[in-house]
Amino acid sequence: MSTEAQALETTDGFHLVIDALKLNGIDTIYALPGIPITDFLRMAQAEGMKVICFRHEQNAGHAAAAHGYLTGRPGICFTVSAPGFLNGLTALANATTNCFPMILVSGSSEREIVDLQQGDYEEMDQLAIARPLCKAAYRVLHAEDIGVGLARAIRSALSGRPGGVYLDLPAKLFAQSLSTEVARKSLIEVVDPAPRQLPAPEAVERAIDLLKSASKPLVILGKGAAYARADAEIRQFIEATGVPYLPMSMAKGLLPDTHPQCASAARSFVLAEADVVMLVGARLNWLLSHGKGKTWGAGSPKEPARARIIQVDISPIEPDSNVATAAPVIGDIGSCISALNRAIGSGWSRPDAAWTGAIAERKDKNLTRMTETLAKDSSPMTFQTALSVIRDMVRERPDAILVNEGANTLDFCRSTVDMFEPRKRLDVGTWGIMGIGMGYSVAAALVSGKPVIAVCGDSAFGFSGMEVETICRYDLPVCVVVFNNNGVYRGTDVNPRGTEAAPTAFVKDARYEMMMQAFGGVGVRAATRTELRAAIDEAVASGRPTLVNAIIDENAGTESGRITSLNPSAAKKKPA
Ligand code: ADP
Ligand code: MG
Repeated sequence: MSTEAQALETTDGFHLVIDALKLNGIDTIYALPGIPITDFLRMAQAEGMKVICFRHEQNAGHAAAAHGYLTGRPGICFTVSAPGFLNGLTALANATTNCFPMILVSGSSEREIVDLQQGDYEEMDQLAIARPLCKAAYRVLHAEDIGVGLARAIRSALSGRPGGVYLDLPAKLFAQSLSTEVARKSLIEVVDPAPRQLPAPEAVERAIDLLKSASKPLVILGKGAAYARADAEIRQFIEATGVPYLPMSMAKGLLPDTHPQCASAARSFVLAEADVVMLVGARLNWLLSHGKGKTWGAGSPKEPARARIIQVDISPIEPDSNVATAAPVIGDIGSCISALNRAIGSGWSRPDAAWTGAIAERKDKNLTRMTETLAKDSSPMTFQTALSVIRDMVRERPDAILVNEGANTLDFCRSTVDMFEPRKRLDVGTWGIMGIGMGYSVAAALVSGKPVIAVCGDSAFGFSGMEVETICRYDLPVCVVVFNNNGVYRGTDVNPRGTEAAPTAFVKDARYEMMMQAFGGVGVRAATRTELRAAIDEAVASGRPTLVNAIIDENAGTESGRITSLNPSAAKKKPA
């Protein structure tokens, strides 16, 4: 082609967005079509991208977030304007809260009309609304800026503390045309979007000195440590120091939960007793009682932990967020733990046998009790009876991904089901959000190619249940196990006036399995341990979309699961 002809050849915003994504190695889009992105999605598919469409944008967004966590590359979600955008926003905010890299791209209406509030189709100032709910938000007005817009979004999502990014693409942008030559030059392939960040040597030394001074040291591994993919370095550190560790829920499996140094089964004991605690990619938020109170061996609820804190984190403003941090180590976890490993040197002495022995004693006692509880073949099934099946299943298939949401279903599953490999457990995370179930499952199946077992309370499942159609449409190896106890928390709530149903009660004996059957998948009702085991075995072996309606005793749950103390009425009964 002559230079002249080349200069005349044109492309458009649609194709430029696709080219920019592909140039940056992004091959999957989670979405829900509609104006103005329907054609875009068709074109992306025609250009070889994987386009996975959902029934509700929130679930597409959760899928993108899980994709980001599982791959370390930003997950991409496309939605339509205003209502679609708002539906996706919960997922974007949740991803940001959990430090998962994702990019929510929404089409939007014409700036001129939005800004004068003249009432356009789906009018909304999306950029302004998204900004406080995510790590960064950008808008692209000209096709030649698409490359820069996406590059900024990728860098923002991945660098430092990962998070959610909003990218606003007004409808008009997609149709803008420009010369192929100019377009090509405008694209950016992002180099090193998550650069290593080395810790300061003096920070490493300070941390090691403090750890050496401890008589009851403890390491807490969080999902930031799992995200960092420094599995070998972390294992080396734990094993070389001999320090007991606690995995936060999504860090389970970073080292196998059956590791002799794992202190999960003695959680309350180690938190209350430890004198130095090293947090690795975990925050001292509500999930760790803010580092205060009885949990931490302090006398009163507001009193800070007795333990002195070492914090390994990529965010320089995380230390001191709740209690004083004696030794902050700021950098990426891979670099920090490698530096700590080098600094341990040969003069390290392992923790006192008095400490590790006391932990082992607690663990033994609690594990024996748990084994007894799990052995009970209760009918109707209790949470533990049903979870004993999941526990066996995961032990046999450690490569499978476990998705978990609910209240009691979450609490019991987290403490009952051991994980053996890193990044195999996806759950409600930092917010304790409900509704991640099907979105996370779809992404987990696509990204890993492994079986996914989604253990969901009946209430939690309801938030994303319609996506069983999505699971069938893409024929994904997802086995959804609905823990059906006829309600939120439990199925026994009664309206004292005898009029409409009580707030937490559902239709009794609901046939959730028929929802999967409706779309050609397998649906099984399982009322006993044997039936449950057979159904999940079959699902994992066949890889067919399956929903198992696991019938749980409706009396079995506790109100608010293990966070009853956060209920205002419980707080009222308790002195502040
Ligand atoms: P958990 O809920 O498991 O305790 P959190 O989400 O509270 O985990 O904490 C994760 C922490 O990990 C955040 O403070 C975040 O800044 C940090 N983090 C995430 N990725 C990295 C990384 N690559 N290196 C270091 N720290 C990281
Ligand atoms: Mg329930």
